[in-house]
Formats: sequence, structure tokens, C-alpha cells
Amino acid sequence: MPALDEITARRQIAEVAREIYGRKLSGASDGNLSIRLSDGRFATTPTGVHKGRMRPEDVVIVDAAGKPQGPGKPSSELALHLAAYQARPDVHAVIHAHPPMAIAYQLAGGQLSEVLVSEVVFACGIIATAPYSRPTTAQVPEVLAPFLRCYDVMVMARHGSVTLGPDLDTALVRLDALEHTALIYCTVKMMGGAEPIPPQEVDQLFAIAKPQPPPYRQPGVACPSPEPVDERLVQAVLAALGRR
Ligand SMILES: [Zn+2]
Repeated sequence: MPALDEITARRQIAEVAREIYGRKLSGASDGNLSIRLSDGRFATTPTGVHKGRMRPEDVVIVDAAGKPQGPGKPSSELALHLAAYQARPDVHAVIHAHPPMAIAYQLAGGQLSEVLVSEVVFACGIIATAPYSRPTTAQVPEVLAPFLRCYDVMVMARHGSVTLGPDLDTALVRLDALEHTALIYCTVKMMGGAEPIPPQEVDQLFAIAKPQPPPYRQPGVACPSPEPVDERLVQAVLAALGRR
């Protein structure tokens, strides 16, 4: 998948930012988007601009180190985006959003990694839940790094989502599928719950959906568990990060 030129990337980011706000997948000032450009730089949403009113000229261009290459201040989670591009040469677009049902389901102790409906495998694969990290700090890329290497769709505990793609449209489709899946899972949970699809059938779904197994399904590849960590461990994680 070829990386994009700056003009196209600016237009795509503004369009998708407005769509994400319009569909309430993020609040006006929440979340951020980025695209890898063909010249090795990145286009990203600015900080402090209403997502519902984003214009192509608001988009900020940064170099590989995150330094702005013109006017505007990049989003506060830029380090998370750069970590994704560094970990995954196949990724050309990243969306961080605050999808309400996905966050609510995680907070209620739901397991988004369970396969209750077949379609989630096609759009998202396995949805991982990463431990809590303090927003806008270096904790975020540090905690997320092993997940970014392995998963295309992940929820950050008590915060929001990260979806990766070979292009911005795919990252948006994955965000949409995550929120739609969470809506179904939340509803099922309120109605008494359901058994997940058996592992043998999930194998069959992956064989149809992803002929090339994703990293977390390849033997010998070290990936973190997609299951959410025990809430009691969150403080221990924070304490460990604080000591460094
Ligand atoms: Zn956020």
C-alpha cells in the first residue's frame, strides 16, 4: 500500500476527523489521527481544533521525530502514532479515538477479545485490551509498544481505542467495527450473556478472513495477551513505570 502525498493526506484526515466527531466516536477535542506520507514525514491532527470543524489546512506535518514542519501544534498523543509506525512498516494510518461503548464495555469488565460474533474476526481480528497508561505521557507508547507490534485493534484501559491500517479508511472501518461490536457485546451482557464461538470455529474464521495469520496467531511470536489485565495490577504497572 503506497504512502500518500501531503495534499491527499490533509484532505483525508479532515474528512475522517469530521466523520468521527459526527458519529460521536470521539468528543470534539478528543482523539487524533495520522497518515504516513510518501516522503517519510507524517500528517496528523492538530491539538485544540474542534474535530467537527477540521479543515485540510489545520492538519500538521511532522518529521519522523515528531518535529512540526510548518504551522500548527501536533496532537498530544503523537508519540503513540510514531510508535505504531516504527513497530509496523505495513501501517500507514493510525486513529486514536474515544468510542463510548467500547470504553464502557472495558470499564464494566467485558472481554472484547472474546469472539461472540463472526464478523469481528473479519474486520478487527482479535481485539486486545492494553493496561492503563497516563494519557499524553511517555507511558502511553511504552505500555502500548508490544500491543502495536501484534494487534490492529486495541482498547487502552480507562481511555480509548487505537486502530491501525494500511490506509485511513481501513483504520476507520476497524474503529467502526470495534464500536459496533462493543454495542452488541454490551447489549448481550445486559441480556444475560452468551457463549463465545468455539476456538475451532474461530480458527476457521481466521482461515477465511486472514490467509496470512496476524502476529498474535503465528507460532513463536511473542505477543501480550489480548485479555484485559486485572484492575488490581494497574497500580503496580503505574508504580513500575514511575520508578524508571
Ligand atoms: Zn485519548
